[in-house]
Amino acid sequence: MLRNDQLDQWDRENFFHPSTHLAQHARGESPSRIVTGGKGVYIEDRDGKTLLDAFAGLYCVNVGYGRTEIADAIAEQARELAYYHAYVGHGTEASITLAKMVLDRAPDHMSKVYFGLGGSDANETNVKLIWYYNNILGRPEKKKIVSRWRGYHGSGLVTGSLTGLKAFHDKFDLPLSQVVHTEAPCYYRRPDLAMSEADFVGHCAAELESLIEREGADTIAAFIGEPILGTGGIVPPPAGYWAAIQPILQKHDILLIADEVVTGFGRLGSMFGSDHYGLKPDIITIAKGLTSAYAPLSGSIVSDKVWKVLEQGTDENGPIGHGWTYSAHPIGAAAGVANLKLIDELGLVENAGRVGAYLNQAMADALAGHAHVGEVRGEGMLCAVELVEDKDKRAFFDPGRKIGMGVAAAMARSGVIARAMPQGDIIGFAPPLCLTEAEADRIVDVARAAVEEVL
Ligand code: PLP
Repeated sequence: MLRNDQLDQWDRENFFHPSTHLAQHARGESPSRIVTGGKGVYIEDRDGKTLLDAFAGLYCVNVGYGRTEIADAIAEQARELAYYHAYVGHGTEASITLAKMVLDRAPDHMSKVYFGLGGSDANETNVKLIWYYNNILGRPEKKKIVSRWRGYHGSGLVTGSLTGLKAFHDKFDLPLSQVVHTEAPCYYRRPDLAMSEADFVGHCAAELESLIEREGADTIAAFIGEPILGTGGIVPPPAGYWAAIQPILQKHDILLIADEVVTGFGRLGSMFGSDHYGLKPDIITIAKGLTSAYAPLSGSIVSDKVWKVLEQGTDENGPIGHGWTYSAHPIGAAAGVANLKLIDELGLVENAGRVGAYLNQAMADALAGHAHVGEVRGEGMLCAVELVEDKDKRAFFDPGRKIGMGVAAAMARSGVIARAMPQGDIIGFAPPLCLTEAEADRIVDVARAAVEEVL
């Protein structure tokens, strides 16, 4: 075992961490944690501290840590056959079984699943498939993708463009010109306080209509959205939002990509967020919950309608020119099969709905009345607390005060990990789906104490 000071030094000298203040980390000024183990909803760090992980890693360890069923499936697959590719019709029992399991759970009109590695590459795949689709249909101008401000769809070139958060654009020369953004469906941040929820839905729909008119429907290929905004602040859509948006897309022949990287496989208490909110997507993006992050794996589930055109394309042009070396990696696929079985056996979709509702109610009871809590919101096993300087004016704190980060840090000192979301001072909660009510109580107690300590 390496000594702690040696690990710290090697970390600072060699490791380029994602989404990190690089200079502070290299100078050893920013907090960091070396994680050594996990069991259930808890992780352990190298100092022997046990923490309740109320964000399930990056809302991905849905079945919880330390599941030997998945570890055994991975080990067995690695011993039998660690790798073979999926090009030109190759497959493994694990990848074929997983494709069937995914389609069995997906909405009925979905047809096939393409496997990638993470949510970002899956959304890159989706954009490429949609461009291909419109080229095959003889509409080479119909290529733009509409995304929402505050959406999160990855941090590649196209996917970082789709993401509607400033920090992912600035200094990277994004967004690319093929991506256009529309209103975030965040009722709390409605432009006029007098607007009812129904008025605000009408406003979002009108914004989308006018964007389509401005750009020209014949230039817009698709609309991408998370059923519920995740990284942009865990924001459930206002009632009737999807019912208002979908007919507009259909009217203009614009495909819908439901980015279910967070919501797929149970987080909202339904197998998919599309089931939960009545979406009928043409493509669904899946990742995190597909393997509960025991191995990297993602997918693009395509509908019958899209699939038929892709088939036509290969009849006309030969094999589709899109593939990753690690598409449908056998170890990821084995993890996925074991993970989806476990979700069923443990009844985690139902648990996410039930305990998630309990967590959201308890959080609202504990914090909604606080002078600096603007809103407590969530759905299923997703919850957020938005902190504001002035409640009546919904006024943000000075960003320099880093209030959200301060609250998350205070919670961590008390043994609970929450996430300071990258948009305003919002504390996010997305625990593993196996959370119990007692564990939810602990999250709420620690959150309340932290808010009171900092504010
Ligand atoms: N889409 C959504 C909705 C996400 O939340 C994320 C990551 O958090 C991604 C895509 C990108 O996934 P990845 O980080 O695996 O590339």
